[in-house]
Amino acid sequence: MEPIKIGVVSCSGEDCLGGTISRLATRNILERIRLGESSVTICLPLFIAGGEEERDFAKDYPTITVDGCNKYCARRATEKLSGKVTDTIQVGEIIGEEKATGPALSTRKLTPEHHQMADKVAEEISIKFDRIVEGNFKK
Ligand code: SF4
Repeated sequence: MEPIKIGVVSCSGEDCLGGTISRLATRNILERIRLGESSVTICLPLFIAGGEEERDFAKDYPTITVDGCNKYCARRATEKLSGKVTDTIQVGEIIGEEKATGPALSTRKLTPEHHQMADKVAEEISIKFDRIVEGNFKK
């Protein structure tokens, strides 16, 4: 059976910690936790700028958006340009809204606590990923 392709779209939040964690967790999923599986990251700025390939992918395949705060930029952009997303993560709901809206950090300044936060968010993405694979969500 061909592995199912799943898109993961992280917000590009540069101005708060939630955005940093969102991008880090998405990278963990693609480069470590789900390495070798059919997950595909979609570049949000390219998607917004008119990347047809990105937009078509999110139209045709299940997609999980990962947002750093309750403004849901990744979910809103994806739904506006491609259609309803399959599932969504909001980092503030996992690490706490206060922490998520705190100042962004350069990846060079991340502490073990920040990496734990990213791991926790990545775990949640992984759970949603499994639900899609198990067929509980279909595009
Ligand atoms: S969802 Fe929040 S953190 Fe992400 S890009 Fe939008 S405002 Fe920034």
